[in-house]
Amino acid sequence: MIAAATAATAAEQGFAEMGGKLVRRCGTPDLGLSARKKIRMALEIFRGKNAWFTESQTPVDIPVHFHIIHDGASGKVSKKRIEAQIRVLNNAYEPHGFTFTMAAVNYHDKPKWYEMGHGSATEKAAKRTLRVEPKRNLNIYTAAPSDSLLGWATFPSKLRKNPKMDGVVLLHSTLPGGKKPFDQGDTGIHEVGHWLGLYHTFQEGCEALGDEIEDTPYEATPAYGIPEPERDTCPQPGLDPTKNFMDYGNDVHIDEFSTGQIRRIRDQVGTYRSDLLSKTVRKNIIQVIKDDDYGGGGATGTGGGGKGGWQPIQ
Ligand SMILES: [Zn+2]
Repeated sequence: MIAAATAATAAEQGFAEMGGKLVRRCGTPDLGLSARKKIRMALEIFRGKNAWFTESQTPVDIPVHFHIIHDGASGKVSKKRIEAQIRVLNNAYEPHGFTFTMAAVNYHDKPKWYEMGHGSATEKAAKRTLRVEPKRNLNIYTAAPSDSLLGWATFPSKLRKNPKMDGVVLLHSTLPGGKKPFDQGDTGIHEVGHWLGLYHTFQEGCEALGDEIEDTPYEATPAYGIPEPERDTCPQPGLDPTKNFMDYGNDVHIDEFSTGQIRRIRDQVGTYRSDLLSKTVRKNIIQVIKDDDYGGGGATGTGGGGKGGWQPIQ
């Protein structure tokens, strides 16, 4: 009974609890092996043809639309905190060429949507109503998810087939000035990392290909809280990348992306989110995917006479 009561309290706070401590819990779903393989192939071909872009610091500016879903005063995040979230995103991504600009902030007093769970009908309803041109913008929704999640995101490979659901959902208290230990806006960085195509550092544990990033060592399980500096959970070389934004540490602990992650982000944007790029950059990029062979959705191609494979469309 005591355990159940404690769990309920943690759930009310929107955090998962483990060993008496509140820990990070992200709802971004695993894409599955076959979708990940498709994406891997697309990215490899993209890089083969557009290495200049992958290896560059070509600026990418991403307009952000904030949709603040609240229930009266609950979850009504102030403009100041939203601006702080933008600054936190820029501090993390700008050194790598990615900047975020505030496009709009809109408040929606919608008790019905406020507790939207991942994949719920309310999430769908809210996004259907509120989203702004997902191909050209990052839509960030804040709410108080009912399932103890700090947030979740959709992957770039899902954009073309399911644009309405594209974006990031954040528990309102994860924005800067919120609730410890997830009060510095790092959940936003983490979820935008997924939105730009990164997996968790512990994806696949010690199994090949892990998170598919060459310079983040393998990691068996999430590193919660403030992990031991020498944490090393896999036989492969390298200590666990616990300071990485795509791990599960507290906001005071996580603070870096690896070079390999940034290269992957550039490949993902070039492949799946190229509408974020300027016209000139887009013109210089050789696209590698076709509409019916997009990856990431578990859907099979319908055209091309079963030819399959990845081919340039320009
Ligand atoms: Zn995550």
